[in-house]
Amino acid sequence: MQDLSRQNIMYLPGIGPKKADVLKKEIEVASWEDILYYFPFKYIDRSKIFTISEVLKICRYGSEPHLKGIATRISNDNSMPYIQLKGKLRYYETVGEGHKRRLTAEFYDATGCIDLVWFQNIKTIQNMYKLDTAYILFGKPTLFNGNINIAHPELDTEDKFFKGELGVQGQYNTTEKMKNVFLHSRAIQRIIAAVLENSKEALPETLPETIIQKAHLVPLDEAIRNIHFPASPAALRNAELRLKFEELFYLQLNILRVTKYREKRLGGFNFTQVGDYFNRFYFEKLPFELTGAQKKVVKEIRRDMNSGRQMNRLLQGDVGSGKTLVALLSILIAIDNGFQTALMAPTEILAAQHFETISALTEGLGIEVRLLTGSTKKKVRNEILPEVQNGNIQLLIGTHALIEDTVSFGNLGLVVIDEQHRFGVAQRAKLWKKNTIPPHILVMTATPIPRTLAMTFYGDLAISVIDELPPGRKPIKTLHIYSAKRNNLYDSVRRQLRAGRQVYIVYPLIAESEALDLKNLSAGFEITKEIFPEYAVSMVHGKMKSAEKEAEMQKFVSGQTRIMVATTVIEVGVNVPNASVMIIENAERFGLSQLHQLRGRVGRGADQSYCILLTEYELSENTRKRIAIMTETNDGFLIAEEDLKLRGPGDIDGTQQSGIAFNLKIADLAKDGQILTLARDLALEILEDDALLQKPENVLLNKQLKKLNQTRQMGWFMIS
Ligand code: ADP
Ligand code: MG
Repeated sequence: MQDLSRQNIMYLPGIGPKKADVLKKEIEVASWEDILYYFPFKYIDRSKIFTISEVLKICRYGSEPHLKGIATRISNDNSMPYIQLKGKLRYYETVGEGHKRRLTAEFYDATGCIDLVWFQNIKTIQNMYKLDTAYILFGKPTLFNGNINIAHPELDTEDKFFKGELGVQGQYNTTEKMKNVFLHSRAIQRIIAAVLENSKEALPETLPETIIQKAHLVPLDEAIRNIHFPASPAALRNAELRLKFEELFYLQLNILRVTKYREKRLGGFNFTQVGDYFNRFYFEKLPFELTGAQKKVVKEIRRDMNSGRQMNRLLQGDVGSGKTLVALLSILIAIDNGFQTALMAPTEILAAQHFETISALTEGLGIEVRLLTGSTKKKVRNEILPEVQNGNIQLLIGTHALIEDTVSFGNLGLVVIDEQHRFGVAQRAKLWKKNTIPPHILVMTATPIPRTLAMTFYGDLAISVIDELPPGRKPIKTLHIYSAKRNNLYDSVRRQLRAGRQVYIVYPLIAESEALDLKNLSAGFEITKEIFPEYAVSMVHGKMKSAEKEAEMQKFVSGQTRIMVATTVIEVGVNVPNASVMIIENAERFGLSQLHQLRGRVGRGADQSYCILLTEYELSENTRKRIAIMTETNDGFLIAEEDLKLRGPGDIDGTQQSGIAFNLKIADLAKDGQILTLARDLALEILEDDALLQKPENVLLNKQLKKLNQTRQMGWFMIS
């Protein structure tokens, strides 16, 4: 059998070292196999050839229903469509000077003529396309200076079309450097055609027959041929399904394999009993009834911690849903079973807050709780460390400082990590080594992660969701107000302040425009002081010294200052139940998830809370949608799903920090949830039966995983 990954594309007709080099550098394509996996990003129907008069009509009167129909049918662009014409070139003319220099020509058929224009490769174009020769033209008409023209069209003599080329056409992404050596979409297509032409045998199958049957997939050979040259729309759909499935399947198999391996090799502590600490807290101290969702999640965690395997669970719940309490209950169970526990938070402020809350909640139970952060004094630190080592400290709360090598536990049984998205896979792995048997791990996040993303980025974690808020909470009211009308706003804000409440005013701070943003923030601070001279105002931003920042934050927490002007540094975790107003300046500059996180800083007390989104009048459609979603719902999961649809997975909070290189070729996590679920289920089924993929029928899977792990695309999770 041919091994296409060993066939260099350099030796295909018409490529050579120069183009091969560009392909390698620009799109990491070197072998025949690589280019077969370079999929089109969209498809265009080239089955129709228009007349020039039709095209001019479509362009000028595109809104006429019968013509619009044609226009949308031949293109999935919203603007003017790509179209095909058949005609001849009349003359060339070079116009303009310097960088404005361009080549124009007139293209005509029996019904009319249209201008063509090229800005690059003027000489070559002129030599390549002959006058008065029949060509099929492919391009996108644009309106330029009131004229309709087509820039950089593709021209081909009719005899140059090969099989399938006049049907549904794949379009390939090409970079500027590729275009400079004439590797445009059409050229890529040609290379792929040549590779397929030269691979007379069917491409070797990459999925086991049983999987293909269970998932109703077409064979790889059929999928690859049809993804590039669809025989029909149905064949294209089948090809997409097959390739998306395969991509997601191997991704899941890779992640889940690690989980299974861990379970097999490492085992976990069994917390068999619920003892005094838990019971006394639950029955004597807990000031309220757990919500149904909290009960459900506590049960899931208890089951995990008594399963003989290490727990790796992600607990998702909107801000204020009561995750901390669930964490505490889990911690008490661990302590009841004679183990030490750790609670890790992303910032010192949060760690300190947890320490206070938990110390207060557990007062009288006789639990040894300590706080350890980067700023813990050396003397205190030196007192704490031996007590951690000898097992006396039962709960250690802190920041990253907890997982430093210098901190060694006598018998660590459970680690709770708050605000997951700051901790990557690697950091979690470090925790596994903190005891001879790895401690149970519970990660909590208030950034709801859409299901498909969670399965992909945190696919090694079991997932619990708290989807219910404690009773009596008033949903936050969110309003969109134009900046120009902000004056009306200040009266309402003053009423809140008079009633004793506190107020956040948040400004964007983006690295690219940092200096200007800081200036806006300071200006905002000054204006706020002028508008509300009777109230003390704090300001906090990421450029301040940590101690200074902490001090300002503390003033606001204690109520000494009543207004907090800040950047998104207040996003994570800070709890000031008395704050009832969140004003977000330039809300258009924030992402959806971020807006939601910010909004979560209010609505933590019993009072009605408000979130005000200030924006300019002029907003893009996308931004309008974001703002509208914010005013319509408080549901973090819904918002996360919308965010995924609007922005794509690469930008979603948590994915960048997750430590996973991310580059899906064909699957789309915003759309392919069902395929992902199927892929995950089938991957699980296989691993249940053969965790290490050693059975003969799984040889292919093993081989394929090894191969994928060698490429950058999936090389993040390899078991060493
Ligand atoms: P999260 O960490 O999920 O943002 P917290 O655990 O900080 O939420 O809980 C927010 C507030 O709600 C806290 O003041 C907590 O005491 C309170 N709370 C938690 N669970 C309940 C419940 N079941 N009933 C009433 N109040 C609750
Ligand atoms: Mg919390």
